[in-house]
Amino acid sequence: MTDWQDNRVFWDEALKTIQHQVSEQEYVMWFQQIAYAGSDQDRISVTVPSSFYRDQVKQRYLDLIQSTLQDLSGRNLQIEFNIVKTEMVAPGERPTDRASSETDRGKARNGRPQSQEAAKAIPPAPGLNSEYTFQNFVVGDNNRFAANAAMAIAKNPGTTYNPCLIYGGVGLGKTHLLQSIGNAVWLNNEGTGKIVYVTAEDFTNEFIRSIQENRTHLFKNKYRNADVLLIDDIHFLQKKNETQEELFHTFNALFDAKKQMIFTSDRPVSEIKDITERLQNRFTRGLTVDLQPPQMETAVAILKKKAEKQGVYVSDEVINLICQKITTNVRDLEAALTRIIAYAELVNKEVSLDVAQRQLKDFFSSPMQNNITVDIIQRVVADYFNLSPNELKGKKRTRQVAFPRQMAMYISREVTEASMTDVGLEFGGRDHTTVMHACQRISSRMRTDPTIEDIIQTLIRRIREEGSRA
Ligand code: ADP
Ligand code: MG
Repeated sequence: MTDWQDNRVFWDEALKTIQHQVSEQEYVMWFQQIAYAGSDQDRISVTVPSSFYRDQVKQRYLDLIQSTLQDLSGRNLQIEFNIVKTEMVAPGERPTDRASSETDRGKARNGRPQSQEAAKAIPPAPGLNSEYTFQNFVVGDNNRFAANAAMAIAKNPGTTYNPCLIYGGVGLGKTHLLQSIGNAVWLNNEGTGKIVYVTAEDFTNEFIRSIQENRTHLFKNKYRNADVLLIDDIHFLQKKNETQEELFHTFNALFDAKKQMIFTSDRPVSEIKDITERLQNRFTRGLTVDLQPPQMETAVAILKKKAEKQGVYVSDEVINLICQKITTNVRDLEAALTRIIAYAELVNKEVSLDVAQRQLKDFFSSPMQNNITVDIIQRVVADYFNLSPNELKGKKRTRQVAFPRQMAMYISREVTEASMTDVGLEFGGRDHTTVMHACQRISSRMRTDPTIEDIIQTLIRRIREEGSRA
């Protein structure tokens, strides 16, 4: 085929046009895998990495591609697909950096169902939740870098960003993003490959059991033969020395074999205590990304998507209300929306602002949000400062103890219903004026020292997490 230069220009232009018409994820997933190969007067030849891609791209986008080319060139150009196993686009190379609100713009176009089809053609990845996909993940300022990194890794696993560590507080999408990588790699490989997802807790328990039952070789086989290893919530490995040792060796084996590993943690690795330095080093050897709570716009986009998925109409007013009231994390946002929808369905009413307001009020006083006790606060704060809860309750007044104690008192007043007197009693029978003094002192220090506020936020996040487990 002689290279017909004009057609190459049309092809490049067509891609640019299409990039603005489909979501970023779709573009990365499908269009970045297509490479221009040559053309003649009536035909453009392109390559795709597999027959799966060819079929999917044809089915989903051939009309769009041809009509775009027609608009640009005024000719009816045919597309010829050839299968060539190629290197995919380099990690980090991304077509656009569009805002979250636009990421799913392409969805309704032509009424074509999209990502779902691919999932149907290929059985779901074993051990992964098939809802946890990039398509279902709303990108905003709070998670853009992490999401982009995850997409780049999914495109080209085991190369530049290995390992990747995703950290962030509870309910901010760590598990969702982690499994999205697994699901995307699975799809990219037409449902082949060993994608192993495990929580650090299950990894630990499985390891212990394998020792008890004398079959550590099977355990090692399972993890050291993974193509992609996803380990969730590695902060759980604190103090689990033998499991850490085992993971260290698993890590080395996979790293040498250029297999992708992704970990999540609820805090930066440097803040995970009682974890060996060499394992810490491994976790942070590649790329570390963090997730923050979503701002208003992103929260709204997430809830809209969620309502849409449930096939329920929820007005903007109601969604805005939820997002104004709930600023902790996405899990709480979703829980509030679910509750409101469930109530509306139960009483057969539409989801009015009134219904929402009343349900939200109950939501805040429901046990789910409120099983945080002073006891939990003492445990979490003590742990953070490397003290024992008894030291917080005890008599010592050295700076090392007094400051954490004041913080714990302050937080107790902030997140529980306990009175000053109650809090005093919980802290070794201290007087309520001591509690008052502690709260004033922390408030005033927070105003002048932003790191104090950071610490308090971190602690409250952990306390909530503990509370939701209790
Ligand atoms: P984590 O593992 O950080 O505690 P999860 O991944 O379990 O949090 O997320 C909690 C819930 O919030 C899940 O239902 C997840 O799908 C949803 N979620 C979190 N972030 C997003 C996002 N950016 N877009 C859509 N859903 C999200
Ligand atoms: Mg999780």
